[in-house]
Amino acid sequence: MPREKLVVLDFDWSLVEENSDTWVLHQLGASHIFEGLLSQGLPWTQLMDCALHAAHTELKATQEDVLKAICSTPFHADMIQVVRTLAAVPGCTLIILSDANTVFINEVLKHHKLDQYIHKVYSNIASWQDGALRVNPFHSSSSPHGCPNCPSNLCKGQVLDNLLAGPRYDRIVYLGDGSGDFCPCTRLRAGDYAVVRECYPTGKQCPLFRKAQMAGAHMVGCFDSASPSLASLPATARFGMEVKSGAACQVEDLSSQPGGFDAKCGLSTPGKERRLKAIPEWQLQPCKSTRGQRDSIAAIVCAWQTPSEAAALLEATVMQPMP
Ligand SMILES: [Mg+2]
Ligand SMILES: [Zn+2]
Repeated sequence: MPREKLVVLDFDWSLVEENSDTWVLHQLGASHIFEGLLSQGLPWTQLMDCALHAAHTELKATQEDVLKAICSTPFHADMIQVVRTLAAVPGCTLIILSDANTVFINEVLKHHKLDQYIHKVYSNIASWQDGALRVNPFHSSSSPHGCPNCPSNLCKGQVLDNLLAGPRYDRIVYLGDGSGDFCPCTRLRAGDYAVVRECYPTGKQCPLFRKAQMAGAHMVGCFDSASPSLASLPATARFGMEVKSGAACQVEDLSSQPGGFDAKCGLSTPGKERRLKAIPEWQLQPCKSTRGQRDSIAAIVCAWQTPSEAAALLEATVMQPMP
């Protein structure tokens, strides 16, 4: 029996290299509609619903226009490939957990022939009505999720709670960038992995990275820049560690011991290179239960900047031998 693994993929700026919502509106020439609604302070899902409706009624955008726009969302070849690779790993289940919407995500997956590899898409519920795409919240107002940390339309943490209540997963790997990804990351357990985007192409720091830092997670860059892929490195020298003082999980720092070495981090911003320690092997000490903790990340946190790095980290973390 293979050990069961769950790979949770955020969509915007994680699996794909854009915000699909604003990308589509821009392609449709509806950015001004979006800006106008944004200034009214509408919640995001309602904003997208109104903007897409207006794109149809005011700009005469057809279903075909919207689908063409969504299929043009930038999607890096390495991320496409890693979905295929991970889906072929025995016992590995891939899901998407996103604040975009089901129609956008399913269209992108179909366009890149990836729909067969994704077990399920959890997102705001979209459907076509009279030629317009309408978007409804994942959590309806009649059954609010009650999480104080998440927008009313979606608590990704609660979705993950429900998944963990079902079949048992021995390892979870979570890919994300946004503030809404912090809540589910607090559900990760020692031995799980959070594969966290550090900054956007503009250089702006990602909210999840910032929140994880504020929560005390020690963000560690990952690999020898001379190596093109983590997966090609020996399993014992792949990447760094996460230590949160007082957190459920402690990784012993082996850097001062024979075999430990410094590796220049391949993920650093030019001019701000950090020297990070690569450790020869994971040394996880016994962990206390993380149940009930909702403000810290017990998982090992790996940071990335480019889609190629994210793909390499996903593969490496899924393949990392179980303790
Ligand atoms: Mg995202
Ligand atoms: Zn939440």
